[in-house]
Amino acid sequence: MKTMAQLIYHYGLKVRIYPSSQQKAIIKRNSDVARTVYNKLIAIDKELYQLKKVKLPIDTVIDRIKELEKRKNPKELANHYRYMLNKNIDSLALANAKQNYNKAWKMYKKVHSAGTPKFHKKGYAEKYQTNAQYGKEAIMDMYSASVKFLDTKHIQIPKLGRLRISGSHRRILDNKSDIRIGTVTISKSVDDKYFVSLQLASDTPFVKAKVKTNSQVGVDLNTDNFLTASSGYQIANPRYYRTIKGKLAKEQRILSRKQRRAKKEHRSLRTSKNYQKQRLVVAKLHAKVRRQRENFLNRVSITLINNHDLVIAENLRGKNMLKNHALAMSISDVGWRTFLNKMEYKSELYGRVFMTVNPRNTTQTCHDCGFVMGKNGTNKLTLKDREWDCPNCHTHHIRDWNASKNILAKGLEKLAKEKA
Ligand SMILES: [Zn+2]
Repeated sequence: MKTMAQLIYHYGLKVRIYPSSQQKAIIKRNSDVARTVYNKLIAIDKELYQLKKVKLPIDTVIDRIKELEKRKNPKELANHYRYMLNKNIDSLALANAKQNYNKAWKMYKKVHSAGTPKFHKKGYAEKYQTNAQYGKEAIMDMYSASVKFLDTKHIQIPKLGRLRISGSHRRILDNKSDIRIGTVTISKSVDDKYFVSLQLASDTPFVKAKVKTNSQVGVDLNTDNFLTASSGYQIANPRYYRTIKGKLAKEQRILSRKQRRAKKEHRSLRTSKNYQKQRLVVAKLHAKVRRQRENFLNRVSITLINNHDLVIAENLRGKNMLKNHALAMSISDVGWRTFLNKMEYKSELYGRVFMTVNPRNTTQTCHDCGFVMGKNGTNKLTLKDREWDCPNCHTHHIRDWNASKNILAKGLEKLAKEKA
């Protein structure tokens, strides 16, 4: 059977699960152990780093180094911390925690700003990963691995057993059989909902490719609007966070009051019923904003994918807008980065082309004659200048619309170079 990486098409499927209290306890246990493994590995590497600085060949130091090196293997780690060998602990959860730790290091080596791996704090969210394992004779489908669908309403997961599910998996299950399940993430959100996310792969597409539209578009992401397209339409900024801010602040004040009271009475927060109730109220408000943002970004991205064969946007790296605090807030509010990720994922899924270009001068250049503002004694346009006249060819421009046309032109140029 082909490995996940050998298969061409990939798809992420997230379904809600409804575990029993017993299953909830097992999820928590695995999540705790996965976090512990991750944190132990950080601690081991920190100690090794210190020990190796001591260049003296002292036996105790050498033995300790040997012992720690050995313990970096999840199996050895579990042998040392025996509770990790509990029958309800999924050994693949340990292996995945180690893998995630290695990935965090790789990330750090690639982009230093990512930082070295940090200790994972114990929070109210839970998460661990396992893998769907196929036997030698198994068929590559959703019903034959260690993680499998039992029917359209149930899934089976090692250590947890049978779980009731809901979600959009029917669309996939009904239309396609040649699917391999890869990494499986079991999680609990801070507002106490449980999910299973499955990485799927196949040699045939998960969705039908979209019909050709012969339309190309450049999009400018800006703070006045969420998006301005080169074809002229605009999508306004959603402001969920702003509309909910007052309510959130109020509930958060109540939460801190309950926290103070519990502290004064020397009760732990985890066992304080009033505090936990209020914590859920706040978590649910946050979750609501997250869900609304997610829906909005899904709608915008799929509309672009539906209507255009080629979509070009700016990369955010050069955009350099986070210097300004107010802007930074609206950026986190609208979620441009998530939007670009969605565009990348969906364009691949539906057989469209999506690319990003360097935003340098896309705002300052006149699309009609190529004049760049700031040159020949002219002033650069500022964020306040929503409309302007080109001093060279006198064309009247709407700033973001002009920018989106430049973005499209830059993208087409880049594509032509790639083909040449
Ligand atoms: Zn001009």
